[in-house]
Amino acid sequence: MSIVADEENNFKKTDINRKNPVVKPETLESDKTFENTIRPKSFDAYIGQSALKETLKITIAAAQKRQQPLDHLLFYGPPGLGKTTLAGVIAAQMGVDIKITSAPALERPRDIIGILMSLKGGEILFIDEIHRLNKIAEEILYPAMEDFYLDMTTGKGQSVKTLRLPIPKFTLIGATTKAGALSGPLRDRFGIIHRLEFYTDDELAKVVSRTAGILNIEVDKEGAYAIASRSRGTPRIANRLVKRVADFALVKADGKITKDIAVDALDTLKIDKCGLDTTDRNLLMLIIEKYNGGPVGIETLAAALGEDVRTLEDVCEPYLLQAGLLQRTPRGRMVTAYALEHLGIANSGISVQTSLF
Ligand code: ADP
Repeated sequence: MSIVADEENNFKKTDINRKNPVVKPETLESDKTFENTIRPKSFDAYIGQSALKETLKITIAAAQKRQQPLDHLLFYGPPGLGKTTLAGVIAAQMGVDIKITSAPALERPRDIIGILMSLKGGEILFIDEIHRLNKIAEEILYPAMEDFYLDMTTGKGQSVKTLRLPIPKFTLIGATTKAGALSGPLRDRFGIIHRLEFYTDDELAKVVSRTAGILNIEVDKEGAYAIASRSRGTPRIANRLVKRVADFALVKADGKITKDIAVDALDTLKIDKCGLDTTDRNLLMLIIEKYNGGPVGIETLAAALGEDVRTLEDVCEPYLLQAGLLQRTPRGRMVTAYALEHLGIANSGISVQTSLF
């Protein structure tokens, strides 16, 4: 369900799903095999995040010198920025195995106990969406993270006994899109907490060229930049766009991705110069036309757009904030003057309040 503005600029819900899955930063089921094929396996192949990579290399070297497992690590940031990939790179650099799971798959106590008991010494356990772990799973995890044992209870009533079961030393790498949603006690048990940043166009152009190389697709420098600049700072989106633009190049030209081909393909996909799709533009237009530029609460926006709050907060907003199109204020969301300019309505006579102060 999405919304469109009719001639009177009244927003109405339509059944046409105008969301563009190409620019969604979350993993799509159809992406999984493709993603694993192109995932960088070493720090050298992992593009960008330079400061974080340098810190991690030192931490890893120190752990190796001490012959100790790495401290537990928490990565946070919007989806598609390379948290899972980085965990794999760390495992490869440490020369250890990695088990990858996500919090929703650890619903029952026996799920988390099972996985903890199956770990080998030094192994890395990667838990995606760790902010979604339930209380019981978290409590099982605390002693495991701190002292590498599990507290098990056996028997019933008066004969109940607690058993301390040692488990091999391991490193937990948690990933979350919402560091603030993690409980305090869980967050405190991570020795290292890092935020992943959106990528620059230069970095994304390298991601595009690397992926095209692996897929045997020809792309020139300007073509790579054209794709990069519409990828919302996100490698997952850049990779997905490479595939879509390559299809376009094959059908409309000789298969090579040039700037003209890329721009043509991305315009056809309705991905604009800032990488916004119809949902993003609808969100901004809604704030402008219905709420005089804001401030307006996220719940109100979600209801009007037929979206859930989580999607808007985790998927749409981070990039709109980063791109300077939207701002968060204590009273709600507001568009910026740059958003009006980007949407081509800065001089259209529409007057909106774009600053609270
Ligand atoms: P997250 O776990 O943050 O959602 P992933 O690690 O699954 O993101 O990354 C999504 C895709 O983007 C991967 O398939 C990977 O190929 C690509 N990718 C992510 N980060 C990088 C990077 N730094 N360099 C090159 N490719 C990257």
